[in-house]
Amino acid sequence: MAKAPAHAFASTLKTFKTASGKSGKYWSLKELAKQYPTIDRLPVSIRIVLESVLRNCDGQKVSAKHVEELAHWAPNAERTDEIPFVVTRVVLQDFTGVPLLADLAAMRSVAAKLGKSPKTIEPLVPVDLVVDHSVMVDYYGTPKALDLNMKLEFQRNNERYQFMKWGMQAFDTFRVVPPGFGIVHQVNLEYFARGVYTSPNDKADVPVYYPDSLVGTDSHTTMINGVGVVGWGVGGIEAEAAMLGQPVYMLTPDVVGFELTGKLREGVTATDLVLYVTSILRAEKVVGKFVEFFGPGAASIAVPDRATIGNMAPEYGATMGFFPVDDMTVAYFEGTGRTKEEVERFAAYYKAQGLYGMPNPGDIDYTKIVRLDLGTVSPSLAGPKRPQDRIDLGHLATKFSELYSKPNDANGFNQPADKLKLRYPLSVNGVREDDEAAAPPPGAPRDVVEMVANRSTHAAAHTSATAPPAAKGDVTIGNGDVLIAAITSCTNTSNPSVMLAAGLLAKKAVEAGLTVKPHVKTSLAPGSRIVTEYLEKAGLLPYLEKLGFYLAGYGCTTCIGNAGDLTPEINEAITKNDLIGAAVLSGNRNFEARIHPNLKANFLASPPLVVAFAIAGNVMTDLMTEPVGKGRNGKDVYLGDIWPTPKEIDENLRYAMNAKSFRENYDKVKTDPGKFWSSIEGTNGQVYDWPKSTYIAEPPFFEGFRMTPHASDAGFKGARVMALFGDSITTDHISPAGSIKESSPAGIWLKAHGVAKADFNSYGSRRGNHDVMMRGTFANVRIKNLMIPPDANGTQEEGGVTLFQPGNEKMFIYDAAMKYMAQGVPTVVFGGEEYGTGSSRDWAAKGTQLLGIKAVVARSFERIHRANLVGMGVLPLQFRGADSWQTLGLTGDEKIDVVIGSELKPQMDVKLVVHRADDTHQEVTVRLRIDTPIEVDYYKHGGILPFVLRQLLE
Ligand code: SF4
Repeated sequence: MAKAPAHAFASTLKTFKTASGKSGKYWSLKELAKQYPTIDRLPVSIRIVLESVLRNCDGQKVSAKHVEELAHWAPNAERTDEIPFVVTRVVLQDFTGVPLLADLAAMRSVAAKLGKSPKTIEPLVPVDLVVDHSVMVDYYGTPKALDLNMKLEFQRNNERYQFMKWGMQAFDTFRVVPPGFGIVHQVNLEYFARGVYTSPNDKADVPVYYPDSLVGTDSHTTMINGVGVVGWGVGGIEAEAAMLGQPVYMLTPDVVGFELTGKLREGVTATDLVLYVTSILRAEKVVGKFVEFFGPGAASIAVPDRATIGNMAPEYGATMGFFPVDDMTVAYFEGTGRTKEEVERFAAYYKAQGLYGMPNPGDIDYTKIVRLDLGTVSPSLAGPKRPQDRIDLGHLATKFSELYSKPNDANGFNQPADKLKLRYPLSVNGVREDDEAAAPPPGAPRDVVEMVANRSTHAAAHTSATAPPAAKGDVTIGNGDVLIAAITSCTNTSNPSVMLAAGLLAKKAVEAGLTVKPHVKTSLAPGSRIVTEYLEKAGLLPYLEKLGFYLAGYGCTTCIGNAGDLTPEINEAITKNDLIGAAVLSGNRNFEARIHPNLKANFLASPPLVVAFAIAGNVMTDLMTEPVGKGRNGKDVYLGDIWPTPKEIDENLRYAMNAKSFRENYDKVKTDPGKFWSSIEGTNGQVYDWPKSTYIAEPPFFEGFRMTPHASDAGFKGARVMALFGDSITTDHISPAGSIKESSPAGIWLKAHGVAKADFNSYGSRRGNHDVMMRGTFANVRIKNLMIPPDANGTQEEGGVTLFQPGNEKMFIYDAAMKYMAQGVPTVVFGGEEYGTGSSRDWAAKGTQLLGIKAVVARSFERIHRANLVGMGVLPLQFRGADSWQTLGLTGDEKIDVVIGSELKPQMDVKLVVHRADDTHQEVTVRLRIDTPIEVDYYKHGGILPFVLRQLLE
């Protein structure tokens, strides 16, 4: 047997000791710095990546040159080097995890068909999946909402959960945290992250330790940056490659240092701070860069606040928002139930590496430094359409009023100004009294019906589909009315200070005699059970409940569009009167139609502000000057009267850090996963047998697979234009996660396959079935294909339609795609700035590929979506300078050639030839956004999945 080559930096393997005298080995960066002295001034995040490159330097996937290049990272060098980053582990949520599992299962099927062992396909690093994206707020405002919503969740998702159980027994390193435990990022923070790791294959007495690092199939994976873990969101296809032993490849990043000084003022929350950070960093254009926080202000803020800031990295555009490990991190690990041994090892390792402690100004050479005095942050919201559009709380009312009549392209709602204050009676079929039984939503299982019928007569059980919110007297509805108020999302629900603030505000509001307006759908969906426990211990949960914020689920809910429906009466009032209704949520995304298809104004805010706006009932109430509502005896109650003091919050924080509670809770993942989960029966075996299902189907990506790739000619001719899009087309526009319209191609397909409308579930939950997902591609109800001429009022049609060419026949994009593919005609999509922004969503690329779209030409791309397009064999092409499809004068009836003159190279120039209907043509040079050599290989193999599969089967 050939001897493995010696490690090129073998002398850097050293030993460290913990406080209790236990030893561990580690690849020492200080030792490496003897050869490359500038290492000591590298950003901490770069040094952690460097450790991975050093440790995995095997002369094959990772070479000594890679180590050298990264050790020579310079703050302002041109970024041409590619880093192969081998991560410690991978985390998944269920929307992205199920299709990933389906791809792995399909690879096993291919292996079996080729006569190879299916076990060849096995994750090489630990993979954790948290089922958090599937719970919906069908029921709210009742003590039974959690149980009722979970019952419906299990009824809707039975086939997916059976498939997961198959995965758990088929793959050795695949763990599932069942529904009802929490949101993936909070579970990651509270439970998965263990400090430092050893390889499962390392059986030495003194094993080699290394830092935690990860990729996750969710953009907000960056929340883990709050505990000094390097990690970010990738598309499912990259995550698959990572779990199958491929390094995550990336161009060496710039690192922007963010110096925090000062202290937050009284009344200002971590949510306000993160909205500031988001708007500052958006303006700094940090897309594709690491952001690293430092300075005395950074050292002073607690880990949950750091995690909140790390969480919103996708909103400010950065790859990460990283906080180095320090005493605060160690205290957090102690308080959340990690063992003494783990904590000691963690601290000792980081100290030995010289990576412990918050850097001070001047310690590190960053590409650029941005500064914020925490004392300048003020209470804020963000919206109504983008998370970076921060609004001072005191300006919200005027901002909404202004935007109401501003044109769409100025971020407005394009409505006649004189309609702003009109109110409309709600045609309620008898406003329900508190003791009246609420009907279950259509499609509810019998036992749910029984539970509703049997519910406490004191509970106002609200169901979104059939019953209006409880109210007595006349109910009217108008513009700016808060129709959804949701304490939701990993961004905030993991943060005890803002969750306790919401509880304290609720307490004072109830005591002052305030109530929530009848048209508001209220929900509380914490990111883990720990939150409920500390709210209960602090005695605050009953007050939230009194205001309607009953526990609705432990998962993403409203944040991912699982807000459940509004009542039919409210929906009708909105659509009939063109009302601009509002949602106020403690989330991190507010793109059009994400929260609810009929709510156009969505504001992100801290949990206490969510409660305050539920009481105020309208976003045009200026909470800085007007009363939140009328309390006892008709007395005006102002926000200042009910806002909790820092002392009150601090006093209650002691309930939130109880190591025993954390341990007991997460032990239950194994010992008591819940009655619903335990009753799911999965199939056994190494190869999945693909039973007939509208949820899970064998994906077509490996059809006709063979060991040698088809010779691919990257260019193509005579492509038709499928769509012309404006700026900021999100992955949710491209591949929506929310509800499925009955009249859409996916809805029609589901009905044809015997699925009733009530059982459609969401696109997100059906990502294991390509037949639904390709029909859902570009099917967001708010997407605007600018090929379609606007109507006489200048209003642009919304929805996934195109004009089929030749002939200008209007049809669904899916239908046009099938016709073009049947004719062998390639297609292209044109976009503007930030194409593919938003959540990482591999179906946005998979769907694009399955619709036969060969290239997307845009002014700029979001990082993950660009990589995913390449990973699926679709060319991302970027306009240069001021060029755009508008400057080319495209209307959509042109034919397009993509001419690649020479061998495919990263970032090469490519010629686009536009053939117009009048037989003239025009040429324009665009930049190929295949960014790295490995991406060229992926593309040549038809995508990353066939590439990895060939490697594994060889
Ligand atoms: S951002 Fe929202 S949808 Fe995404 S993981 Fe967090 S809570 Fe869930």
